[in-house]
Amino acid sequence: MQGNADARAHLDADRALFEAVSRGGDPGWRLYVTGPAVVVGRHQRIEREVNLETCARRRTPVLRRFTGGGAVFLDGGCLNFAVAEPRRAATLDYGRYTAWLRDLASSFGVEAVLAGNRVEAGGRKISGLAARVSPRAIFVHGTFLVSTDLRVLRGHLAVPRDRLEALPPPEGPHVKSVPRPETTLSREAGKAVSMDEVRARASRLLEKAFGAPPFCHKRVLLHVCCAPCATVAQRRLRDEGWEPVLFFENSNLHPREEFELRLAETKRYARETGLSLVVPEPDFEDWERAVRGLEDEPEGGARCDVCFAYRLRRTARAAAEGGFDAFASTLSLSPHKKSARIDRAGEACAARHGTTYLPTDFKKRNGFAQSAKISKDLGLYRQDYCGCRFSLREKRRRDSQQRVDQPVSDRGDRREDSRESYPCEPRR
Ligand code: SF4
Repeated sequence: MQGNADARAHLDADRALFEAVSRGGDPGWRLYVTGPAVVVGRHQRIEREVNLETCARRRTPVLRRFTGGGAVFLDGGCLNFAVAEPRRAATLDYGRYTAWLRDLASSFGVEAVLAGNRVEAGGRKISGLAARVSPRAIFVHGTFLVSTDLRVLRGHLAVPRDRLEALPPPEGPHVKSVPRPETTLSREAGKAVSMDEVRARASRLLEKAFGAPPFCHKRVLLHVCCAPCATVAQRRLRDEGWEPVLFFENSNLHPREEFELRLAETKRYARETGLSLVVPEPDFEDWERAVRGLEDEPEGGARCDVCFAYRLRRTARAAAEGGFDAFASTLSLSPHKKSARIDRAGEACAARHGTTYLPTDFKKRNGFAQSAKISKDLGLYRQDYCGCRFSLREKRRRDSQQRVDQPVSDRGDRREDSRESYPCEPRR
């Protein structure tokens, strides 16, 4: 099977939740969204359940979960949930875990009916659940289709008949997915429904049904300077139990095409990993006013302190207005930026807007090299200067100096090496 760190990481987190409750830990629940992935049940034959040609062509990973049930397709339009609690009865009553889904659909004006381990709307499946039971715990997780592209879903799960007939009969236990027409909340509601809104309502219903939200539902607004830096930062925050929402505030970027390019890559990354992204209107002129008089500062000098404070101030204000539990920044991933200076700016902005700043140092534990590798694997654009017009000027000066210093025969190779070493920062 191919890898997908995000969907796989969530499946691992589901298992960890189940195991913790099985050991007598506190009950809990989770909500999450992933990038595209196909997930099969523990007793399924992948070649019989999944269109592997489509998966290969679209580079969709195929993963196996630790619960039973049929194959599902996940993407950014599919809300996933998981509940683990102590086992109180000999048998599993799915009704306890589907009732809140009916209420969720109903809150958007969609009538849904419970049908065992699934929920249907308009006679079509909108949600499916799978479970695992241990002597001490019951674990249930499932999907709720909000705006998934159903043609893409079917393209991944429908195995062509001639291919099925060519396969030898299955040996041993094999759970066959029951094909059912699916639908989405948006389709049944007759309008586009925002995932953020569904998630917020789902969170309230789960809290009502299963108790207070666990730590993993603390939301952090993550200031993102570019997609490569977001890769490691968001994963580490999630590992620590935070739910990141990306915030692309980069009024420092120059020229405009560079802003659009970094934004497009961040959007693509957010879409592929199922993360929410907020993009405030950039104010390039205001940023220029903020750094006036500091044009000739070197990178890493006083202009950068003003630049950090500018972007973090706007992030802090959005975090306070949006009711986030904290805000943080990907800036600390860069080996050329001192975390202490970023943290100082973050703390001051938090105090000013009455919110909480989360100090980070994402470059630790090999963070920068990890982000370079992930970015390369995902084919993300990696810029080679910090971002403002002054850093671009510095970078051009270094480039021309290097051309003068280098023998002609070495120039191409060294340029490529340098880019590999500093995927989102200027060369030194
Ligand atoms: S060099 Fe980078 S951090 Fe410093 S002012 Fe320019 S864009 Fe901001």
